Amino acid sequence: MNLNNIKKLQKIINCQVCNGKLKKINPYSFVCKDCNYYSSNLKPSVGQDVKGIESLRRKNFKQIIKQLLKYKIAPKILEIGSGDGYFIDECNIANIQITGSEASLESLKKLKLIYGEKIIKVHLPKPIQTEQIFDIVIFNDVFEHLEKINNVIKEVSLVLRDDGLVILNLPTSNGIIFKISKFLLSLKINKFYDRLWQKNSCSPHLSYFNKLNLTKLFSRNGFILLESGNLKTLELNNFDRFRNLYKRKLSSFVLTFFTSIFFFLQFFLPKDIMYLIFKKSKTIPK
Ligand SMILES: [Zn+2]
Repeated sequence: MNLNNIKKLQKIINCQVCNGKLKKINPYSFVCKDCNYYSSNLKPSVGQDVKGIESLRRKNFKQIIKQLLKYKIAPKILEIGSGDGYFIDECNIANIQITGSEASLESLKKLKLIYGEKIIKVHLPKPIQTEQIFDIVIFNDVFEHLEKINNVIKEVSLVLRDDGLVILNLPTSNGIIFKISKFLLSLKINKFYDRLWQKNSCSPHLSYFNKLNLTKLFSRNGFILLESGNLKTLELNNFDRFRNLYKRKLSSFVLTFFTSIFFFLQFFLPKDIMYLIFKKSKTIPK
């Protein structure tokens, strides 16, 4: 075994959250025995992944904006990975000062055409090249795609005010979708588990957190948890969504029927998407 291979192995042996030992789940994914943090060694990329429907995302963004305004009046926000720009739109509607960002030149160009100079290039964990200081840095379905997560938080800290906030919304390993997919994997059905990690997409997931280990990761890097909660995964009426996917009306009706049942169930089942609000604290523990 050459040195590079040994280095590669070492990279995946220890947990990025707690330094605990990782257990292999399948050829590309691991779980920490100590803190239950899930990680993958899929190849990180800067492309966009499938993020669900616009109306639901916008509703969730409205909810996040409502929460963040409790802590900051007229905040200056940096969004990491703005994708289609829905969060920027919602901030503009709420009259909040927002800077968007993208990692790839292609997405950057697209966003600049719509939002102009409000967009900067940010490719974490590389340093954020800006003179600006922000009140809030937000990751909308982005943090789980990033490698070297401790470095990511350090770089973000550098562009945050002393009492600044980091807000994350992301899928959780405590959610029902994760649990079912993992159960199916144990029956050797890997399709759903692969889909969960977006294994074959241009930008796969590298992490799955729960509230506890994500809080641990941030507290290690000098942040305290202010608030956490859940966001909706599904809307009551998904007919239009399926109508676009399937030409046949019957398939759309059947799918709409089942997802509507799931819509009501989701109030009782473990939630799939969580949001957390962290505040930078002055003392960083060693
Ligand atoms: Zn761990």
